[in-house]
Amino acid sequence: MKRIAVMLPMLGEEEAEAATAAIRSGWVAQGPRVAEFERKFAAAVGAEHGIALSSCTTALHLALIAVGAGPGDEVIVPSLSFIATANSARYVGATPVFADVDIATGNLTVETIDAVRTERTRAIVVVHQGGTPADVRALREAADRWGIALIEDAACAAGATAYGRPVGAGSLISAWSFHPRKVITTGEGGMLTTDNAEWATRLRRLREHGMNMSAADREASTQPVLEAYLETGFNYRMTDIQAAIGLVQLDRLAGLVAQRRELAARYHELLADLDGATPVRDPAYGQSNFQSFWVLLDSDFGVERNEVLSVLADNGVSARRGIMAAHLEPAYTGPAYVDAPAAPLPVTERLTRDSLILPLHHALTEADQDHVVAVLRKAAGR
Ligand SMILES: *Cc1c(COP(=O)(O)O)cnc(C)c1O
Repeated sequence: MKRIAVMLPMLGEEEAEAATAAIRSGWVAQGPRVAEFERKFAAAVGAEHGIALSSCTTALHLALIAVGAGPGDEVIVPSLSFIATANSARYVGATPVFADVDIATGNLTVETIDAVRTERTRAIVVVHQGGTPADVRALREAADRWGIALIEDAACAAGATAYGRPVGAGSLISAWSFHPRKVITTGEGGMLTTDNAEWATRLRRLREHGMNMSAADREASTQPVLEAYLETGFNYRMTDIQAAIGLVQLDRLAGLVAQRRELAARYHELLADLDGATPVRDPAYGQSNFQSFWVLLDSDFGVERNEVLSVLADNGVSARRGIMAAHLEPAYTGPAYVDAPAAPLPVTERLTRDSLILPLHHALTEADQDHVVAVLRKAAGR
């Protein structure tokens, strides 16, 4: 039986050739290809500066350092996210505080943030979940009014738009992922984008042990140069091999997003008369890249989500449970979390319990989609 994957990275000969060219050049660590990828990616998402990193997780860590979050501070995050979002607050010694999300977008809102905001709140990390844009206009306005830094976890959101601009445009600071589960990939990899030139300089330093010049600069100099280490930094660099792949992937981004949106529209048609199953849609103010196409089940569907997942698996369809909820994981239910204010997260718990992610990728055929939906109907006994 053919298995239908939930996600597949789109990697072609061009990526293989670009990686080979980087290797043949003799420069494989962070170098000219990283610099070019940063420039082009930042331009594509409407930001002044791009700082390429080893992952979105390390990007979130550095973003929290940039905004000055540390011990004694609270950082508001959605629980409904990949666990790296919440963990990043702990990396800087701050306390992650979970806020609930909107049921339609899966994203934080001004109201859910306001419900858990305190005088200790230093930063908010809003996630554009599964590529569905959060309401950045309302969130940025509220964060400015409150005097709290708004970091955008745009791990999944390359190519998504809000208010007619790319997600990332006009953002204080945004973190991106190039893990193969996202729309474009470099194997592993991440990026920060910002319009703040001072932050960009410091972030470049922090990714490279706090050095006042990059290894590439030092290598390029004909005279011996003595670098200085200005603060405690990290090794969070991306390699030129990854950036070479990323440059090819970036050229594919618009096409991949257009194709994903067409497939999502077709799912919407096929699912229109399936009662009790509500697929994620564009919000009024923007367009998703449909990095994750989730369907929320309710009691009209008649079968529990986990049962549906097994029926799909038995019929050759790799679906996934919906987005995880960090506050239900052992890393957050234990004694380490006792000092945080407890707020109920009913929407988060409903979304994580009752939603599932359907296959959506460049190689998905119409016949595959028909099969996925037929199996869903069968699971529901219809
Ligand atoms: C994937 C993901 C991350 C982590 O990205 P990595 O590049 O794998 O570190 C962080 N936040 C969200 C919302 C994600 O989906």
